[in-house]
Amino acid sequence: MKKSIAILGSTGSIGKYMLDIIRKDKKNFQIILLTANRNYKQLIKQANEFKVKNILIYDDKYYEYTKEKLKHKKINIFSRKNKLSEIFNRKIDYTMSAISGLDGLKPTLEVIKFSKIIGIANKESIICGWHLIKKKLKKYNTKFIPIDSEHYSIWNLTKEYSNDDIEEIILTASGGPLLNSSIRFQKIITPEKAVMHPNWKMGKKISVDSANLMNKVFEIMEANRMFNFDLEKYKILIHPQSYVHAIIKFKNGLIKMLLHDVDMKIPIFNSIYDDRLKYIASKKINSKTLNNLNFYEVDKTKFPSIKLLKKISKENTLYDTVITIANDELVKLFLQHKISLRQVVTNLVKIINLKEYKKYFSKKPTSLNEIHKVRKLVRLKTNDISV
Ligand code: NDP
Repeated sequence: MKKSIAILGSTGSIGKYMLDIIRKDKKNFQIILLTANRNYKQLIKQANEFKVKNILIYDDKYYEYTKEKLKHKKINIFSRKNKLSEIFNRKIDYTMSAISGLDGLKPTLEVIKFSKIIGIANKESIICGWHLIKKKLKKYNTKFIPIDSEHYSIWNLTKEYSNDDIEEIILTASGGPLLNSSIRFQKIITPEKAVMHPNWKMGKKISVDSANLMNKVFEIMEANRMFNFDLEKYKILIHPQSYVHAIIKFKNGLIKMLLHDVDMKIPIFNSIYDDRLKYIASKKINSKTLNNLNFYEVDKTKFPSIKLLKKISKENTLYDTVITIANDELVKLFLQHKISLRQVVTNLVKIINLKEYKKYFSKKPTSLNEIHKVRKLVRLKTNDISV
């Protein structure tokens, strides 16, 4: 039987990787829903190629426009105002949540009810809304698979183990484009250069987070929220080759690591096929690659973002939204040439230390609305303080 699939954010890089995988095995998949925010042209192209009957466009203006344009076609076009029950009449096999930003949380929460398995790439959803996601997963008996390569690796290596079995969890960081440059350089680097990641091809926001290592702070928050392992067990090691994605030291003395090519298609592929061993093209193991794997401690003077790990709470609270949104806004300001890369972290520290946000440190989110309210306040404050 064909596997039924939905992709939230099919026009983005993760969404397109997923479609590349399905393209090679079309006979085994039926795509029920594809979504985009504005990129209706690409969405329609994808729907035509994969014979998808339902598309959803979140941006109202583009939704109206697309509806008008496709009025004689047999594709159902939905907007964010439609209920997902109008699209799904039963649980589908797999949904990929790959919308970028905190706007991905609402669709992620909604689609859990209609999915047997959900793969979540959207970091902001996990960091800010894990408490809500976890409840829904339980309520609707939906299985969850993390997609980010480090988290997929941790998940894969620790599936059968509990907190008591594990001593240390290492997440690797490539070090990004600034690994070998001076601290001074972080004050003058342009956004155009900062987004040039040596190993991964990603969107601008996540590339900036990788340049100052803020991405690793978020990844530890993400891992800590979704897995039941103590925060103190996580550590970051610089590994410029990005070949090893996670290393786990178990209490019995065994150390396991997961290695794969620098290619997001590998975790996505394995999550869709649910660990059944299917073939995906990847480089052969060779001694030259293995002989050149390096690991270094993080230089916290150069990458002060790492010190923020001391400031995060041990479980998902509204303070996670404060950190995420303040960073989001600061990255936007950097991309607009209004502040330096170095200021992204210095301003972030100032903002999250504000007295008015301390109350969120131990307050679990109880609704999406609450998260959105905090988002609004932090957006205004960050821009007020920074420009
Ligand atoms: P992209 O920016 O490439 O794509 C984002 C997708 O979400 C697009 O389909 C976009 O539609 C849609 N979208 C954007 N804003 C909204 C909105 N407000 N409402 C509804 N849909 C929206 O992102 P990526 O694919 O790179 O990343 C997706 C998520 O996965 C992010 O959270 C990222 O941090 C995470 N991730 C990405 C990795 C990567 O290698 N790219 C690795 C690990 C995690 P449209 O095209 O119309 O704008």
